[in-house]
Amino acid sequence: MFVGHLALGFAAKRVTPRASLAVLFAAAQLADILWPVFIAVGIEQVRIAPGITAFTALDFVSYPYSHSLVFLLGWGVVFGVLYRQLTGDRAAVAVMAALVVSHWVLDFLTHRPDMPIYPGGSTFGLGLWNSIPATLIVELVLYAVGLWVYVRATEARDRIGRWGFIALAIFLVVVYLASIGVAPSSIPGIYIPALAGVILLTVWSWWADRHRAPRRSV
Ligand SMILES: [Zn+2]
Repeated sequence: MFVGHLALGFAAKRVTPRASLAVLFAAAQLADILWPVFIAVGIEQVRIAPGITAFTALDFVSYPYSHSLVFLLGWGVVFGVLYRQLTGDRAAVAVMAALVVSHWVLDFLTHRPDMPIYPGGSTFGLGLWNSIPATLIVELVLYAVGLWVYVRATEARDRIGRWGFIALAIFLVVVYLASIGVAPSSIPGIYIPALAGVILLTVWSWWADRHRAPRRSV
């Protein structure tokens, strides 16, 4: 899942208005930020297997440190506590931790049964990715709802806050749709674009969100 994770990041702005959208995205996507790093250094494994599901050509052979439920609970606590230490925002700890853990739940919906509860344990997944239409319906509805909550909770302070944000919201959907079924030609062809995407998403969402303010009426 991709834009579905970001949907929860958008929606979380409603409950943690002081947190940057970039941080909320990072929490919801933490598993997918750690994953390309762990693939690059070789402690997790992925295989390119076109057709393994309709939606993705990737076979997630092993990813216990980025994607097991137990590790995500741990990463969630680390992320939440670190955020509190850096910002003093106590109320956000639980929200950040919940966003990190939510990644497992959403991936469990879409992935084949390859999601571990703990390293070395049995793996689970409902396999929504076997159907492109079903995946699109679930994920785009989630995205629309998340976006709607964010738009209701914030307002543009200037043109960047309006157009920079609208461009980001559209760009994410375009990238998402363009990625369907694409088979990278090598393993670096997976993790290098993934890491570049993380940097772009972080900078863009931070920039657009900075030009928006919590709406007073909510
Ligand atoms: Zn993931």
